[in-house]
Amino acid sequence: MADFDAIVVGAGCAGSVAACVLAREGKSVLLIERGGDAGSKNMTGGRIYTHSLRPVFPDFEDEAPLERKITKERISLVTESENTTVEFASPELGRPENSSYSVLRGPFDRWLASKAEEAGAECIFGITVEDLVWEDGRIAGVRAGEDEITAEVTILADGVNSLLTEKAKLATKPSAHQLAVSVKETIELPEEVIADRFQAAPGEGAAWLFAGAATHGHVGGGFLYTNRESISIGLVATLSDLCTSQVPIYQMMEDFKNHPSVAPVLRGGKLIEYSGHLIPEGGYDMIPTLYADGCLVTGDAGMLCINLGYQVRGMDYAVASGEIAARTVLEALEAGDTSSAKLASYRAKLENSFVLKDLQAYRNFPAFMEGTPRIFNGYPEIAAGIMKSMFIVDGSPVEPIRKKAMAPVKQIGVWTLLKDLRKGVGAL
Ligand SMILES: Cc1cc2nc3c(=O)[nH]c(=O)nc-3n(C[C@H](O)[C@H](O)[C@H](O)COP(=O)(O)OP(=O)(O)OC[C@H]3O[C@@H](n4cnc5c(N)ncnc54)[C@H](O)[C@@H]3O)c2cc1C
Repeated sequence: MADFDAIVVGAGCAGSVAACVLAREGKSVLLIERGGDAGSKNMTGGRIYTHSLRPVFPDFEDEAPLERKITKERISLVTESENTTVEFASPELGRPENSSYSVLRGPFDRWLASKAEEAGAECIFGITVEDLVWEDGRIAGVRAGEDEITAEVTILADGVNSLLTEKAKLATKPSAHQLAVSVKETIELPEEVIADRFQAAPGEGAAWLFAGAATHGHVGGGFLYTNRESISIGLVATLSDLCTSQVPIYQMMEDFKNHPSVAPVLRGGKLIEYSGHLIPEGGYDMIPTLYADGCLVTGDAGMLCINLGYQVRGMDYAVASGEIAARTVLEALEAGDTSSAKLASYRAKLENSFVLKDLQAYRNFPAFMEGTPRIFNGYPEIAAGIMKSMFIVDGSPVEPIRKKAMAPVKQIGVWTLLKDLRKGVGAL
């Protein structure tokens, strides 16, 4: 007989939710996390879209350490000194069914793990799972140091750099164009200063994404999220593209923080945290096999993440896939069959949920981004050129706007612009 019904590796969003759902149903669960505490190794931009939290934690708004409700969205195309911004604010962004909140992974992941523990899961921290235990060709548990612990099912929720999915023979190493590198700083500022700088109502805040000079024209972008008493700011750049960059990402980050539209927002702030992480960016086509005999893969370990430039999503997919994995395991335990044939329904359930429906819908987007570098090193300049033609008045005789605005467009070519537009619309 196995030591546990289920072992969950990794106390991020996916792992803690899976452990919590299983423990609530009375299953014996061991949640193993390599960090000294849940969240200590984790990183996000970031904000969580709450639609996936609500079914598992109906009272999350009262209990979870949420920072600010995001009710203002900004997207900027930036050149070295200019900034063309679209801002969207709407009460609809704040409605319960649509809401998203900025979060800091330390407190947020600790809360999620505490929910698993409260439900009865055994949680151990500071232990790295190094290998899997195999019995008659099936995964029968995990190995950490000298210890071998067995389970009917092992759920791999060990994040983007999952060594265990490789050991489970479910995935190979992703290639550099399927991963992005990100760096992030958390800058402390008084609550009222943040509210003032973003014209935010009490408890509310903004998400702000940047393309163009933020990454020195490389594929990727900048992000800024308002927390209650801090600002999360960072950059994401595709690994393969970064390899060809003359400028290291830490220098890009310094330049980004000094950008004329960013520096005033951070003024007087104190750096309290610095982190770096990978993001899976390959989309639907990089998803590995998600089940094996005695094993399921969830969250970033299953590459369930999307970066659309104007939106990064992974936490809601991690929560939902963790929940769906747990429900699949409950069915398998009930049937006394944890073979891959039985656990295959996990993939089918994901395909029927928003998780794989979304990733399928944006399947062509990663290739579009990578194949259209002009988004990062051409269109921000065009946008600024058009704005200048509209707003700069220097006393010289006026030309019709259509003529002035066309001048920057002609630098790239109208046909190229239309083709990019068509490709973009097709990929979204
Ligand atoms: C810069 C950045 C910005 C982002 N912004 C957003 C955003 O705004 N919104 C959003 O929804 N998503 C965002 N994401 C994506 C999101 O953070 C991830 O998709 C999400 O964290 C995945 O959750 P997870 O539980 O699958 O993995 P993780 O959160 O990575 O958790 C994996 C856990 O497994 C542990 N672990 C790993 N290996 C082992 C092992 N061998 N033994 C024991 N424990 C192990 C790790 O320590 C970690 O705690 C962002 C990501 C980054 C990097």
